[in-house]
Amino acid sequence: MSRSQVMQAVHSEDTKPEVVVRRKLFQEGFRYRLHRHDLPGSPDLFILKYGVVVFINGCFWHQHGCKWTSRPKSNSDYWNNKFANNVVRDVKTNWELSLLGYRVATLWECSIKYDFEHSMELLKTFIEGDEETIEI
Ligand SMILES: [Zn+2]
Repeated sequence: MSRSQVMQAVHSEDTKPEVVVRRKLFQEGFRYRLHRHDLPGSPDLFILKYGVVVFINGCFWHQHGCKWTSRPKSNSDYWNNKFANNVVRDVKTNWELSLLGYRVATLWECSIKYDFEHSMELLKTFIEGDEETIEI
């Protein structure tokens, strides 16, 4: 992936995995708001009735550690810094949201792409349950 492709991916809010997740949730009767910029980390979805926020994370950008977590070979210092900052920011964001009383679900792009039905089952169970965080 080139740097300009990465930047493009970052700037588009309606990336495909996010769209399929929210379409499915809507079909299941969940109602949500998108991109709550007033909350830490601007969660992709905020599910009104349950106080659940959902992040849909790209494996590359958030350094999931799965096989889609490649690192660019050029400018490696730049990227290593960038990724380290992203990972630290994700941890901080989740912690802040928990302190505010939100329950936090993180969905990885690879789970959505390759195990969609199962991922959505886990997400629904989490939303309706009482666990504080989940990573799918
Ligand atoms: Zn992944």
